Amino acid sequence: MHFYCTKCDKQYPIEGLDYQCECGGLFKLNKAQGEEIEITVSLGEVKTPILKRKLQEREVYLKLDYMQPTGSFKDRGAFVMVNKLKELGIKEVVEDSSGNAAAAFAGYCAAAGIKCNIYLPESTSPGKIKQISAYKANLVKVPGSRDDTAKAILKAAETTYYASHVYNPLFFEGTKSLAYEIYEQIGIPDYIVVPAGNGTMLLGVYKGFKEIGQLPRIIVTQSKNCAPIFSKFNNQPVGEMKPTAAEGIAIGTPKRIDEMIEAVRDSKGDIIAVDDEKVIQAQELLGEMGIYVEVTAGAAVAGMLQYFTQGYDPNLKIVVPLSGSGLKK
Ligand SMILES: [Zn+2]
Repeated sequence: MHFYCTKCDKQYPIEGLDYQCECGGLFKLNKAQGEEIEITVSLGEVKTPILKRKLQEREVYLKLDYMQPTGSFKDRGAFVMVNKLKELGIKEVVEDSSGNAAAAFAGYCAAAGIKCNIYLPESTSPGKIKQISAYKANLVKVPGSRDDTAKAILKAAETTYYASHVYNPLFFEGTKSLAYEIYEQIGIPDYIVVPAGNGTMLLGVYKGFKEIGQLPRIIVTQSKNCAPIFSKFNNQPVGEMKPTAAEGIAIGTPKRIDEMIEAVRDSKGDIIAVDDEKVIQAQELLGEMGIYVEVTAGAAVAGMLQYFTQGYDPNLKIVVPLSGSGLKK
């Protein structure tokens, strides 16, 4: 098992400090058939339930992926990466996220006995870091902007393993299990609607279904306030980035944007942008049904409602994964 560069094919060991190729290309994972990751660390992962529900006249399957140990689908990625890092003898990692990915890594690193350093902007709200703190991760609060945090993490990554949910392909190796589970539960859907910022769910789902051998159409939802993937996909200039309630997908410059667009095109899917107001309404709509999710999960539902406005066919199998729990904050 090793990493290789998507641009020049150069190989890199998984346990090394390189998180991208010297040519600037991003890594993918090369894993031979039958080669497995040894699982020694567990927090009680579950096959998350899938519920068939009617949302404003559209019948959809809601995949309750917030029912993972730390409360979001990101556990799928952290579970696989942390297990592999443990097997490789990595003792300490750095990661930069203030949301679900950080909580997932902090939780799994705690279970694995790996020291976890989370870099975040000093301005991050205390509520947001409560869960990460509970797992006793070392919080490195960086003064200044998000960019300053990005610079600080790259400096730290020169000497400590960068367990990035964006750069490190082991993360996508984990999130792909979402596709396998859906396949086991209902077969290949016609459509899957996912929210995307850095694309950890989108690229995982694509990888999984690609391996299974059949792709659903992947419909990606972005917030209108922060829609770089939507803009590039539609050959439009990227608009000004504004804050959005769907903070889990508020990523201005996603590293794997080209990979994401390629995945959507390959699936004959589409990328749409939704209003914040609709995102919040969708979150409330789920709440009225007894399903309590984070705002970002509402983005996928809002995207589904917007996409299937006309010509909705009740025979279509549409899946909407719900990314994170409403209990987070
Ligand atoms: Zn390269």
